[in-house]
Amino acid sequence: MSTRGVVVRTPAKVNLQLAVGPLGEDGFHEVTTVFQAISLFDDVSIKLAKQGSGTSLTLSGATSGGVPIDDENLAIRAAKLMAEKFDLSTDLEIHLKKEIPVAGGMAGGSADAAGVIVAMDSLFEVGLSRDEMEAIAAQLGSDVPFGISGGVAIGRGRGDQLTPALSRGNYHWVLALSGQGLSTPAVYQECDRLREGLDIARPQVSDSMMQALRAGDAVALGQALSNDLQAAACSLRPALRLVLDVGRDYGALGGIVSGSGPTVAFLVEDEERSMDLTVALSSSGVVAGVVRASGPVHGARVIETL
Ligand code: ATP
Repeated sequence: MSTRGVVVRTPAKVNLQLAVGPLGEDGFHEVTTVFQAISLFDDVSIKLAKQGSGTSLTLSGATSGGVPIDDENLAIRAAKLMAEKFDLSTDLEIHLKKEIPVAGGMAGGSADAAGVIVAMDSLFEVGLSRDEMEAIAAQLGSDVPFGISGGVAIGRGRGDQLTPALSRGNYHWVLALSGQGLSTPAVYQECDRLREGLDIARPQVSDSMMQALRAGDAVALGQALSNDLQAAACSLRPALRLVLDVGRDYGALGGIVSGSGPTVAFLVEDEERSMDLTVALSSSGVVAGVVRASGPVHGARVIETL
């Protein structure tokens, strides 16, 4: 082996559509979702460490506060899974430079796990295909395979069975961040509570979404954005309704709670609108931070060898 370490850049996602089916007997919901990877990244570095030293994890970056550094961290779980499957060393120094909001509905932890799989494949020259890496990723969580694929994809099942989606164009996003995360299981529970007694259809991707993506039509995409978890996220965090109102008032093409929230993603026409909305949100007093991004971007990939 010639390299001592690698750095992998791994993207956040927004769900352009998130359709949630009824609660299954196994306690999970069947979902159908359209993911887009966006230009907000964590960098995952993995270096070989001294024999017998075990796996260590360190953190830096704007959103690293409160992230666990023990086995609860998805990056460590991914490293252990790769080591077990391919008989690799666990004497590793992992460093996460985090820019993706934590518990923000943008799959930050999943992105890190995807980054570790790609990093270990490269560092130990395992030679896995993207499909093989995605299959391993699915064992760690439903959003992890998409961290590897990136681009635009439809996720079925629990969101982990991916098919690439035909998509044209580049889209501008303004992300309104919250000071405090929302727990994904709590949002699903609230969704079930709000839907009690209702007949819930099997989740499907809407035709309007697929047409908008195929045409590269940002206006139509803005209108097609939808999220079945949005009512639940807003019920648990009513201030999100105010955030959505700011976007609407300042001419966003569409606004949506990302995944289980609380990040709100606004689609805007161009750079200039993106700046205007950033200023409006920052001065609104209802958000903790604002980040601009564009998508789609690539999935987790090596950017440096050490
Ligand atoms: P999703 O959109 O997939 O539901 P999320 O973006 O809402 O996920 P994460 O940022 O992945 O949420 O974090 C959820 C929880 O997972 C955190 O509160 C944290 O305790 C834990 N966690 C484990 N590993 C990581 C990691 N590498 N980065 C951030 N959080 C992690």
